Amino acid sequence: MKSRATALNGIEKSSFDLCVIGGGATGAGCALDAQLRGLKTVLVEAGDFACATSSSSTKLIHGGVRYLEQAITERDLGQYHVVKRALRERKIMLDNAPFLANPLELVVPCFSRRELYYFRIGMKLYDWISGRNLLFQSRLLSREESLRRMPMLKPDRLAGTIAYADGQFDDARYNIALLQTFTKSGGEALNYARVTGFIKSSAGQLVQARIHNGLSGEYFQIRAKAFINATGPFADGIRDLARPGVRHRLRLSKGSHILLPLDSVASSDALLVPKTDDGRVIFAIPWCGRLLVGTTDEEITLQDEMIVRKEEAEYLLKQLNRYLDRPLNRNQIVSGFAGMRPLVASNNARGTKALIRDHEVEVDSSSGLISVLGGKWTTYRAMAEDAIDTAMRCLAMPMVPCITGKHRLTGSEKWSANFWEELVRAYGISIETARHLSHKFGTVARAVLDLTKDNPGLKEPIVEGSASVLAEVVYGVREEMATTIEDIIARRTGLQFYSWEQARAAAPAVGAIMAGELGWTPNQQKDAVEEYVNKISRLMQLMGL
Ligand SMILES: Cc1cc2nc3c(=O)[nH]c(=O)nc-3n(C[C@H](O)[C@H](O)[C@H](O)COP(=O)(O)OP(=O)(O)OC[C@H]3O[C@@H](n4cnc5c(N)ncnc54)[C@H](O)[C@@H]3O)c2cc1C
Repeated sequence: MKSRATALNGIEKSSFDLCVIGGGATGAGCALDAQLRGLKTVLVEAGDFACATSSSSTKLIHGGVRYLEQAITERDLGQYHVVKRALRERKIMLDNAPFLANPLELVVPCFSRRELYYFRIGMKLYDWISGRNLLFQSRLLSREESLRRMPMLKPDRLAGTIAYADGQFDDARYNIALLQTFTKSGGEALNYARVTGFIKSSAGQLVQARIHNGLSGEYFQIRAKAFINATGPFADGIRDLARPGVRHRLRLSKGSHILLPLDSVASSDALLVPKTDDGRVIFAIPWCGRLLVGTTDEEITLQDEMIVRKEEAEYLLKQLNRYLDRPLNRNQIVSGFAGMRPLVASNNARGTKALIRDHEVEVDSSSGLISVLGGKWTTYRAMAEDAIDTAMRCLAMPMVPCITGKHRLTGSEKWSANFWEELVRAYGISIETARHLSHKFGTVARAVLDLTKDNPGLKEPIVEGSASVLAEVVYGVREEMATTIEDIIARRTGLQFYSWEQARAAAPAVGAIMAGELGWTPNQQKDAVEEYVNKISRLMQLMGL
């Protein structure tokens, strides 16, 4: 990626075929698809790339076992098609960035023969719908085998378990990799650039977006022939800017997650808790060296703060502990995060749990704004394909077929599971750091570590005990447009998910490097560190830690 200043300069001087608003999964997917089809494309993001829902997911690439259950019990063909499409997209996501995504075996504990049969049949159906995109066959594990693999499971009444496959990924890094691939293909991207209004032609069509530069406080305009609203939970706001008073379409649902040390359960298997008090499922899955537990589902408004409350953490632990021999407690929590699901409201009477995770591409006839609403991470590529097909039709351009299904993301070139060994040999780093870099950056890890040739100090960990190294901070600023301490610690390195304690301790070192790279004054550096440390301290306090 270009530096922010260079990108801004280029964007102000140009005019584009397409302006994508929103730098989450949907926007990054749309921008890449459009650029690869030959549309001159710019993407603007109000905060940091992936700062909202797209770094707050359960990190599963899935068709949705629960949605399949709904499809069957409610005889809902629409839901069935959503699951089928997601299972096709699951395979594409895994193939296009193997360093960021992997198949995962999940286990469903069953406490009666009836439950065993129920889930056995359900998972066979899930396999069957996957067709040639099947990852591996689901299977029944006896009570003995289940307890051997997952000794933390409550043995009383356990009848056995059903193991089935889905995918798992690093959502924030997948988002960054999409944007790296997009800019490498010639696209322009800018973070901390918020759309605050539009300028219309005499016929009422959008011709320019008014942008607030979050760093300088100045405003500028972007000229484009078409505008895609890919702002996820915020989409109604952009629809309102294009057509004031438009009927809102989204219903928002908050989902919270907590992370615990992986050794708090003596197993590296992923667990699906099939039934909670409010009829949901909960996942407890190993992710980046931690046990990720989530999620809740609570209808909210845009004004609600995305933080995990103590009660939410306790709810998640209570549901999970029913299945565990040795209960987990709140003091073991190392971090947490919450996000907003952008669900398209098709029927006001239903709760958010029941709304289909499908997407819709809407064209506003008066302004021409194209909005991509709803969907989920797993289907970001299919959503983008639909949106860019629509954009090409709106622009009356000859239809160029979508090629993202087979376009591997930057970092995937010649990557293999043992690529980390090359990093150990070539750069003399620890196995832990090599594995970490290989999975965060793919083969781009070489470029990160090349920074250490002139400055070997950059091989030092960001904070004691962490696999992340200081070179990632420099790389994040120079090549990934990281602008704040949180951009680095949360989304570029993932340390904030791994441990709030470590994240807080890392802030001074990260701030010092960023100050050098970005020319911060000593006061700016001090304020940036303080702001980040206070934010994390507050999150810990709210969790009662
Ligand atoms: C708790 C939870 C768990 C989930 N788990 C999964 C899962 O396991 N698997 C799965 O497939 N899906 C999952 N999802 C769904 C998935 O995360 C979302 O569907 C997806 O991330 C939405 O991406 P998006 O780009 O549409 O929205 P976002 O990621 O929210 O991006 C929208 C962006 O638009 C920006 N923006 C807003 N206003 C403006 C403006 N005026 N100008 C410029 N930019 C603006 C925002 O800053 C934001 O970055 C989960 C969702 C939640 C909440």
